[in-house]
Amino acid sequence: MSHIVDQAIDAIKAKLDDQPTITIITGDEAPSAKYDKKRGINEIRTPNDPYIMLHEYIHMWHFQTFPILFSSSDVIGVDFIELKCEIKPIFNTARDWFVYAELNKLCPDDFRTVILKDYKDYLTKVTKDDSENNQLILGLIFASANHWFKQDIPDFKNKDIIVNGLLSVDPCCPKVEKLKQIVNDLLKLYSKYDHIEEFNCWEVTKIDNLITSYQYLLDSLKKEITKYADEVQASLTAHKITKEQALIKIYEYGKGVSDSSKKSILFFMCLPIPGDRSIIEFTESILSGIDPSWETIL
Ligand SMILES: [Zn+2]
Repeated sequence: MSHIVDQAIDAIKAKLDDQPTITIITGDEAPSAKYDKKRGINEIRTPNDPYIMLHEYIHMWHFQTFPILFSSSDVIGVDFIELKCEIKPIFNTARDWFVYAELNKLCPDDFRTVILKDYKDYLTKVTKDDSENNQLILGLIFASANHWFKQDIPDFKNKDIIVNGLLSVDPCCPKVEKLKQIVNDLLKLYSKYDHIEEFNCWEVTKIDNLITSYQYLLDSLKKEITKYADEVQASLTAHKITKEQALIKIYEYGKGVSDSSKKSILFFMCLPIPGDRSIIEFTESILSGIDPSWETIL
């Protein structure tokens, strides 16, 4: 990365009212920026990579400068699993569309190198994983490569929903209404949602007749995971296996479930996603034999 990136970080820092704590992360933890003045949270967690650090600093600048709805993931109308698995990835994709424009403005050469490399890498990943999350990642990379560098967009599942949703908004004008427009376009990935509105916080309207079948899926998942949690605890006690081995067991169980949404829900619920403390606490409570408390987590 060029020294331009370091200079850009300094430029963004100069715009911030409150300087965040920087925590350097390693391993699989996803980078993040969290800002909540009321709760005293003001932290960027980033690997020691100036380009990624700059990306997170731009999120922090959005948090501190733009209306909070531009950065907030507080949503009414969805449950925990829907928020984690479906709504948050949509918010992340929509926000990054604007963050990329800022990266292009601040360090155009580095931005070009990163996007074109990602574009090339992701061309080989088009058919490998067709989960909605993966489609969103592909869509953001391909739409960016097309918007900024006129690259062709290959076919992939839900290409039209994602790419058209992003390309219809000028990323150089970050506004809540524009963010909402992208979010609502991307929401079409899931047929159970109608639209998302912003009032005091984001609010999702669902399509009524589909809630029942989703509730059925949730109920059956509750049963399965609770049953499996008992099994894990019994195994832990009986065979004195380690917590890590138990986590692998849960993960393997998730992999064996054929239905793709079931699989991803199990994955999100049971694997401690680095950096996501509620999931870690939930998993640890399962493994310590404490009731997983579905009611409190959902
Ligand atoms: Zn981001």
